[in-house]
Amino acid sequence: MNLSSASEQIPVKHSVDMNQVVGTHDILMITLDTLRYDTAVLEQENCPNLCGSGPWEKRHSPGSFTYAAHHAFFGGFLPTPADPDKSSHVRLFHSRNTGMKTHPHTWLFDTPDLVSGLAAEGYHTLCIGGVIFFTKKVPLARVLPGYFQRSFWRMNFGVTHPQSTKHQVDHALKILDTIPTDERFFLFVNVSAMHGPNHIFLPGAKRDSVDSQRAALRYADAELGRLFDAVRRRSNPAFCMALSDHGTAYGEDGYEGHRLAHETVWTVPYREFML
Ligand SMILES: [Zn+2]
Repeated sequence: MNLSSASEQIPVKHSVDMNQVVGTHDILMITLDTLRYDTAVLEQENCPNLCGSGPWEKRHSPGSFTYAAHHAFFGGFLPTPADPDKSSHVRLFHSRNTGMKTHPHTWLFDTPDLVSGLAAEGYHTLCIGGVIFFTKKVPLARVLPGYFQRSFWRMNFGVTHPQSTKHQVDHALKILDTIPTDERFFLFVNVSAMHGPNHIFLPGAKRDSVDSQRAALRYADAELGRLFDAVRRRSNPAFCMALSDHGTAYGEDGYEGHRLAHETVWTVPYREFML
């Protein structure tokens, strides 16, 4: 376990005041595509980079597949705590002037989505794509990357590549090098490794399972350490959200996959931390 990274990660106390974050901090959003909550918890001890400062929170996703969930996220609707006490949950982001009462710690944006809202605050908005909805190959797959000023996708970022996270992180580091250290960025990365086929990360496995998704998560965590180290080296505080967009079913109650309503799909891991 990489204890040096773990000790440098500062947990975020609830609730973080996003009005003290936006404008001063770099912001990372990392979606661990298709990662199930139970898989994430089983690998917590083996993920020093994602879980160095604490455990995963159990949350419910607003979407059952990538396209729906990311539209919600970029609209400011992040997964909500898996807890009936909805009133104690403070939202990080919210559209301004909706007429709804918002918490003083919630950052309000005046644009259709939080990505363009951060751009309006002077942020460079950057997207490193992963799964099919970020490939930009067809008009539909350009919608989500289209939220960002700069978006990137390569074959080796995709779900079938056994070193996808390495290539995604390598590219992110290259792009961050182009951002002056006195300017702020919002970096979004859609990590594709945990999406099917994830059995490519477990030697001998012929089909996807919780075990093969665990192997994919261990792989992705190790690669993300390089990204977090690079962000720390920039010497500007950074706020990071790490979350899954939806889970997936591996035969539970007869269900396979996602884009369906099942506890294995709507329950997702979520974390916030400072780098
Ligand atoms: Zn997804």
